[in-house]
Amino acid sequence: MTAQTIDQLLLENQRLRHLLAEAEDTLRALRAGEVDAILVETDREQVYTLDTANKPYQLLVEQMPLGAASFTTDGIILHGNRRFASLLGRSLETLVGKSIYDFLAVESRATFESLLRDVQAAEVRAEVTLQRGDGTLVPAYLGVSALREGPLGMCLVMTDLTEQKRYVELQGAQEALREADRRKNEFVAILAHELRNPLGPIRNAARILKLKGPQDPELRTPIEMIERQTEQLARLLDDLLDVSRISRGALEMRQERVTVSDVVDASVDACHEELQERGVSLRVGLPTEPTELVADRARLIQVLWNLINNAAKYTPSGGKIELTAMVSDCTLVLSVRDNGIGIPPDKLTDIFDLFAQVDRSGEREGGLGIGLTLVRQIVTLHGGSIEARSEGIGRGSEFIVTLPVVTTAAPAPATGPVSGPAAAPRRILVVDDNQDAVESLAVLLQIAGHDVHKALDGEAAIALAQQVRPDVVLLDLGMPKVSGYEVARRIREHPWGKQMILVALSGWGQADERIRTQAAGFDAHLVKPVAPEALNQLLATTPARSRESAAP
Ligand code: ADP
Repeated sequence: MTAQTIDQLLLENQRLRHLLAEAEDTLRALRAGEVDAILVETDREQVYTLDTANKPYQLLVEQMPLGAASFTTDGIILHGNRRFASLLGRSLETLVGKSIYDFLAVESRATFESLLRDVQAAEVRAEVTLQRGDGTLVPAYLGVSALREGPLGMCLVMTDLTEQKRYVELQGAQEALREADRRKNEFVAILAHELRNPLGPIRNAARILKLKGPQDPELRTPIEMIERQTEQLARLLDDLLDVSRISRGALEMRQERVTVSDVVDASVDACHEELQERGVSLRVGLPTEPTELVADRARLIQVLWNLINNAAKYTPSGGKIELTAMVSDCTLVLSVRDNGIGIPPDKLTDIFDLFAQVDRSGEREGGLGIGLTLVRQIVTLHGGSIEARSEGIGRGSEFIVTLPVVTTAAPAPATGPVSGPAAAPRRILVVDDNQDAVESLAVLLQIAGHDVHKALDGEAAIALAQQVRPDVVLLDLGMPKVSGYEVARRIREHPWGKQMILVALSGWGQADERIRTQAAGFDAHLVKPVAPEALNQLLATTPARSRESAAP
């Protein structure tokens, strides 16, 4: 901008102030009844036209993205830019000469009045609500300043706050949604946890009936049914817990070297019954070379188990499933293909979303629509990908998983047998505030030949431990009054308690909980409902402690 333009602008500004003063005098006179209406009409026109005649100044004001206006100390509008008029939803001509109070929502008039009172001391700002020509309300931010030099007058700039308000509201709504989601996850986790607790005793009771109940062939089927259904329930609840972990970003992976054939075999074993029941056959094709991955073995089995199980679920009896694994460019490609009911093309991506299921006109297979979400999450956490393919309804489906393989071949650590050797008889103290849990676990252990003692609370557990000096204490963590942690700490304080094998029984099994149990002096940590095989394996593989501290 040249000095000449600046000078010109200053001059124009001065002229404008002068005009404002004149206009104000006229309006004041009008209010006092000194000037007739025609004169005012002319004057108003003069203000308006002279203003627009001052081109550079007008351009400057007109191009502002803010509403701008000048007005008298009483609030009578003298001039405004186009944005000002559009914010108020009226033409500029209809605004000039009117009181600005007429265009403010009733509740904002007092705010504006106080602005005008304070403006002589400083530039003032406030949020107000404008009332547009069509009656709608617009939130706006006002800055008012007095025109100090020259005649008395005011000017204002105004910003439309609609977008900002919407943004803030949206943010608030998003925050509320996030909070609701967090609470839902918490609720799901607690629910799954609470529902899992009764499963332990039920499973144990079924096992006891099988081992010791009347050997009536008619009882075999219902007992096995209880066992199968409890397994299924436990698995559903585990899935629910996993989902809440995923949502909190807390799904844990325990990486180790695993062989593909081991993972495939274990998955197929786990699906064996389901396949038989549904009358669906499974053919497995493995790579000829031994192939290794760094992966969480249990989670990978969960992936394949889900895919095979789905293939069986969504394939009519007599159908065929093919599971193939091949290596290409350091990538393991696993494919589970069936010739079942297929998936519509528009659902091939959606089915991986949480709770998503294909709507098949009322036909419903049991399930929550969680399996594939978990599968995708686990595969992604292993640095792999998953994709669903189907030629359409009735034409089968294929799920393809890719995972990075370990290139340097080194022997994988031996994975323990699923059901180990029988454990040598031990003296075992079982502690849980849930009587059914204690009783059922105690009977199972007695059947396995152990000498079992029971306690239903922490104090009783410590007293009994001192009295009978068990080799192993199976200790529930979540007991009222004296928790499992406290019992463990107090047992370890005594010379007789140093050698005992303390096993935590918990409903959660999160990493931080394992750290806590370790710190409290536990030797092992089992998650409820404890599978009898897992307990047997633990007892069989835990070295017997020195007997010096045993009971007399
Ligand atoms: P669920 O099986 O519990 O409903 P999943 O997440 O495992 O939940 O699967 C989501 C949906 O994807 C299923 O409800 C089903 O409609 C569809 N689906 C999964 N696998 C197959 C398959 N092999 N064939 C046909 N549809 C399938």
